[in-house]
Amino acid sequence: MRLVLVGPPGAGKGTQAQFLASHYSIPHISTGDIFRANLKEGTPLGIQAKEFMDRGEYVPDSVTNEMIRDRLDKDDLGNGFLLDGFPRNMTQAEVLRAILAEKRTPLSAVLELSLPKEEIILRLSGRRTCRNCGKVWHSEFEKPADPHKCDLCQGELYQREDDKEEVVTRRLEVYQEQTVPIIDFYRTEGLLITISATGSVSDITERAITALGRVH
Ligand code: AMP
Repeated sequence: MRLVLVGPPGAGKGTQAQFLASHYSIPHISTGDIFRANLKEGTPLGIQAKEFMDRGEYVPDSVTNEMIRDRLDKDDLGNGFLLDGFPRNMTQAEVLRAILAEKRTPLSAVLELSLPKEEIILRLSGRRTCRNCGKVWHSEFEKPADPHKCDLCQGELYQREDDKEEVVTRRLEVYQEQTVPIIDFYRTEGLLITISATGSVSDITERAITALGRVH
């Protein structure tokens, strides 16, 4: 199963990706997570990405494509992979296509999580992330016992810089301008599967697995 997960910020890509990756026993590759891990460690890549991430902009393609090329060269992809947050524009989609063509491992499907705009804003504004283990909570929909601490590891919860309201608006504009065209592209290629991202986490996972069951 070689999958791309696409959808607006707040659609729950990261959460669903974890469940789907485990269901299909494939690595979950999230470019956002890789950038955040680099940022936490203060690497040059992290420092370079931060200024774009904090503004709600995309990190330049030269940086992102290089990073994904390295990741797809690792030898843990025998079962496939789940790409979460890549590609996000047409240039990246072309680069991905070229990398996979070289390896003779084309995509199986592109799963789109679709969500109305009002719900996106509601989800992002209440989202709180654990600084230690990365688990995502929500101040209304998935409350931890203590609003400042992760139930799983007691790590400190924080609001991502790019989940703040001013930045969310910009992220949605960038999504519309740059990422929506790749959805059209994958639809034309016959790879697109769209499911609704409303409802409970387990409902959405089930919906995704049912839809992907038709792929093979
Ligand atoms: P995410 O965790 O997927 O929402 O990504 C967080 C941020 O990381 C995005 O808003 C971008 O600034 C950056 N980022 C993640 N993936 C990409 C990508 N494929 N291309 C450019 N920037 C990205």
